[in-house]
Amino acid sequence: MRDDDASRRERMVGSQIVARGVRDPRVLAALRKIPRHAFVPEALQSVAYEDDPLPIGEGQTISQPYIVAAMTEALDLKGGERILEIGTGSGYQTAVLAEIAAEVFTIEIVETLARRARANLDALGYSNIRYRIGDGTQGWWESAPFDGICVTAAPAAMPTDLRDQLAVGGRMIVPVGAENQTLILVRRGESGFRDTGLFGVRFVPLVGGPERRPS
Ligand code: SAH
Repeated sequence: MRDDDASRRERMVGSQIVARGVRDPRVLAALRKIPRHAFVPEALQSVAYEDDPLPIGEGQTISQPYIVAAMTEALDLKGGERILEIGTGSGYQTAVLAEIAAEVFTIEIVETLARRARANLDALGYSNIRYRIGDGTQGWWESAPFDGICVTAAPAAMPTDLRDQLAVGGRMIVPVGAENQTLILVRRGESGFRDTGLFGVRFVPLVGGPERRPS
């Protein structure tokens, strides 16, 4: 059974990840290692290595493996970084980040998902993750700045409160938009921020944030 899971992951990495151009050896190693099936409901474990997002309950989804790989690669991690993740969800992307970076700070607004993700990540032995249950739109100021920020739910507009928590030289990857979303890579340099649009995506909306005044 275990060999079988490893070979399913090997096939997933070859046909979905490398085939679409992801080359970062750290990212590929993490995807080969992490048991994605442990992060999905039992009834879906047999399809855990297919080329799809999957429902994880509470109306939320675990991202497609390729999207997790592409977002992680965009952060250009070398090891040693401190990373902020908004939207723990299943915890699978958290595990990928925790494999490569030194420390991951992750925030999830749905308590049942946060608890389940933590139980799974604890069971797999990850001890470099810090968890918070609540609205992540304001980030985690007390632990800022971060070398990388990974936002896995889509705000309607560029989340400047999160962007401001990047260290100089840091990178944020975020899907931005309401109907049509684009994955945007933000790089913070000495003199400001530079945004690059990568490709179109479909994420669940980032909820919460400051109360909007009626217009
Ligand atoms: N990376 C996750 C993706 C989960 S989907 C995975 O691969 O499993 C996005 C998650 O963002 C959902 O679990 C949703 O509840 C959460 N989310 C949405 N708005 C949020 C907010 N304001 N703060 C924290 N988490 C939020």
